[in-house]
Amino acid sequence: MKYALIIPDGAADEPQDSLGGRTPLAAARMPHMDEIAGRGIVGRADHTPPSMPSGSDVGTMSLFGYDPLQYHTGRAPLEAAARGIELAKNDWAIRCNLVTIENSVMRSFTAEQIPNDVAQAAIRRLQKEYCGSTEWKFHAGVSYRNLLIYRGRDETAPFDNSTHTIPPHDITGQPVAEFLPTGTGADDLLRMMDRSAEILPQVPENAARAQDGESPATQIWLWGQGHAPELANFQQRFGVTSAVITAVDLLRGIGRLLGWRIVEVPGATGYLDTDYAAKGRYAIDTLQDVDFIVVHVEATDEASHEGATNEKVTALEQIDSHIVGPVHRWLAEQGDYRILVCPDHPTFLRTKTHSHGFVPFAMCGREIDPDSQSRYNEVEAAKSKLELSNGYDLMPMFLGCD
Ligand SMILES: [Zn+2]
Repeated sequence: MKYALIIPDGAADEPQDSLGGRTPLAAARMPHMDEIAGRGIVGRADHTPPSMPSGSDVGTMSLFGYDPLQYHTGRAPLEAAARGIELAKNDWAIRCNLVTIENSVMRSFTAEQIPNDVAQAAIRRLQKEYCGSTEWKFHAGVSYRNLLIYRGRDETAPFDNSTHTIPPHDITGQPVAEFLPTGTGADDLLRMMDRSAEILPQVPENAARAQDGESPATQIWLWGQGHAPELANFQQRFGVTSAVITAVDLLRGIGRLLGWRIVEVPGATGYLDTDYAAKGRYAIDTLQDVDFIVVHVEATDEASHEGATNEKVTALEQIDSHIVGPVHRWLAEQGDYRILVCPDHPTFLRTKTHSHGFVPFAMCGREIDPDSQSRYNEVEAAKSKLELSNGYDLMPMFLGCD
């Protein structure tokens, strides 16, 4: 028995005037997703608890069968897992953005896409400042996306659930004073942020940016903290071996923590120019060795963030013809299988951002009796009686373990 889950990230949306009142999923030509709907069942699932921010980290955790309210501890621990940084019981991971703040206002949460070499020099210099410390360790990542790890050893960690931080991308153009860390351990975070504002101007590569008329990183911004989530191994829970194809670090991290194989696909960009056909081919190749493949495509989400309606429709059609179609055909040729299509969360073209609420899903395969729906989109899904307000119930249903 083989299983495939295809995730068109953020695909669920609202009706668009420019599409004649249809949603992108309804407007796109998707014969293969419609075939799954026709042969199987269509329903709705909500992967984002109202109390949590909508995003792929929360949404996919639920889609993979894990209640985010119980298991999600923060974004940084998932990014740490993606980079192979292990966290012990009392360790915490904290996202460390290099940012540009001018006149106490958040000008750029990326320090204007600070180049890797400048970012690495900055992180090296920060680490040197704390080299006497056994607790704090900076890890350079890509560009502005870096990590700070707190090694707790046998001590209790200085943070807890009351520690509250704000993502810098949520406060662009706003005075930062109202958005500083609060709660347990906030003093530590604030002290390091303040100290970084003294250190970063002394990093020659960073200072050179100012001379070139670009924005230097003025300080670090710490957020997204969390301890290692205790995710029960997926194979132990569901009895299948699994692999994931994704261009997104957060998903790689969740995959690692679940014990999945991470399959790197050349030409997978996480953007609209991604190589859809390569993802489809690698998915089929990987299915020779594992029971369950997850193929995540970020392009639909990116199109929404840009408010690009036609690009979103095109991305859906590409996913349909190059991934869903070939994978489904291969599965059907092999014998027993199930296939599921489901986004992690809605991303609205209108607001250009992630939203809460239901997403449509379609699945077919062994022992799934067809319902009356034959199209895969939000309107058809809303007619279905199958409504999962706890989205994490979908995976046990799909894998036949409920
Ligand atoms: Zn997403």
